[in-house]
Amino acid sequence: MKLYKIKKSNIDRNGRGLYATKNIKANTKIIEYVGNIITKKQTENSDKFDNSKPIYLFNLNKRYDLDGLVSWNTARLINHSCSNNAEYEGTGLKIWVVSNREIKKGEEITCDYGFGYDSDYKQFPCKCQSTNCCGYIVRTESRWRINKKFKKIRRINI
Ligand SMILES: [Zn+2]
Repeated sequence: MKLYKIKKSNIDRNGRGLYATKNIKANTKIIEYVGNIITKKQTENSDKFDNSKPIYLFNLNKRYDLDGLVSWNTARLINHSCSNNAEYEGTGLKIWVVSNREIKKGEEITCDYGFGYDSDYKQFPCKCQSTNCCGYIVRTESRWRINKKFKKIRRINI
């Protein structure tokens, strides 16, 4: 039995997500993130990654990227959450989605998409509704920058 099933997402209202079909222990490999292995050069020369859907592109090593924007990659349906319960873990040229805590049956499986902080982050609003949500899909290490920015804006408004 698979550990996940596809269902309409609570986070991405227009899309789907993956949900746990049973309780999943921490550090469990849930699903492999598959795709086409392409060279960095192919990534650079392809229009496919011009900002539109960079979330499906993974850096494997110095030479290769993984393009997960393919129909047979079910893991691409996993949504981002600022309180993610799973993570992408790379081993060699493989990427697995691994739980980082216990996930209860029926819970949506979520990852941290890990976007860096740059001027484009506003393209990707986050709707995860967790208490520590910073409003945008930005990796944990960069979120403080946005929080700081919000604080500044709030202060100006007062
Ligand atoms: Zn969020």
